[in-house]
Amino acid sequence: MYDVIIVGAGTAGLSSAIYVLRSGKSVLLLEKNYYGGQIVNASEIENYPAIKKISGYDFATTLYEQAKNFGAVIEYEKVVSVENGVYEKTVITEKNRYKCKSVIIASGLQKRRLGIENEEKFTGRGVSYCAVCDGAFYKGKNVAVAGGGNTALADALLLSEYCSKVYIIHRRKEFRGEKILAEKLTKRENISYMLNCTITALNGSERLESVSVTSNDSRIPNDIEVSGLFIAIGQVPDNEIFSGLLELDENGYIISKDCSTSADGIFTAGDCRQKDIKQLATAVSDGATAGIKACEYINKKH
Ligand code: NAP
Repeated sequence: MYDVIIVGAGTAGLSSAIYVLRSGKSVLLLEKNYYGGQIVNASEIENYPAIKKISGYDFATTLYEQAKNFGAVIEYEKVVSVENGVYEKTVITEKNRYKCKSVIIASGLQKRRLGIENEEKFTGRGVSYCAVCDGAFYKGKNVAVAGGGNTALADALLLSEYCSKVYIIHRRKEFRGEKILAEKLTKRENISYMLNCTITALNGSERLESVSVTSNDSRIPNDIEVSGLFIAIGQVPDNEIFSGLLELDENGYIISKDCSTSADGIFTAGDCRQKDIKQLATAVSDGATAGIKACEYINKKH
């Protein structure tokens, strides 16, 4: 029996763990991929207070080590359901059943797919959702980035350092991402903008060879030859397994009030919950709130 089981070892989950462990309670973190979550894919973080600059990998690893040093147990298992008993909760993974007194769901988000033909076929064969992980395979090649948010802009900046040419394909004329990133891009000579455009086909035989891009005004498709397409069009929650347990909004985000959910003793933290601002700093803040609330719940109930 653990005191708290945390679903997801991203920034929010690991931050919760630190708060719970420092209250003298035990923690099991269950993670289906790797520790650190989305921030691992950020090449540079410059907006986290009191840290001038750090890579996403270094940030995540430091946080992970901090949680481990306080005594966090981490298992790499996919959670398939959670049962909410009156005195104990059961978290069921593909391999095991774990008991605990309180649960914190910090399951984050997963990458949104374009939803067009061949996307799955070419994933890992030219189509990628992580420029930091896969960008180096495209050194000296032409690539494209889909999206207009901070991730797309940061990906394009990174790729422009070693790719011959980088196309940015975005469905609107303006970027959603920060001005500072868009301005940095204007200083790179190997960037080409395809704004107000839609990706309408992914072409190739064994691997991606070209992308058909259609202007939203002219409706005329234009094929660009690229070896890689980095899709950075945001994320979506992955909360279906919790739908019978607690309240979700129409987009699948967990509805919460100060990190408390509609289920007694089950708390939530980070990007998986409905909130306006999804940033590293707010994930850490959620982690602290959910961790403290889970401890207060246990102290009252047990
Ligand atoms: P995002 O801000 O949600 O942007 C997603 C982009 O993809 C938008 O430009 C959107 O277009 C476009 N898009 C969405 N669905 C699409 C579709 N079906 N087809 C084509 N385009 C589509 O996502 P993000 O860039 O991954 O960022 C997520 C969060 O992380 C944000 O809060 C961001 O600020 C943060 N982040 C911060 C940094 C940093 O350095 N500060 C770096 C990375 C991420 P529209 O603009 O038309 O909606």
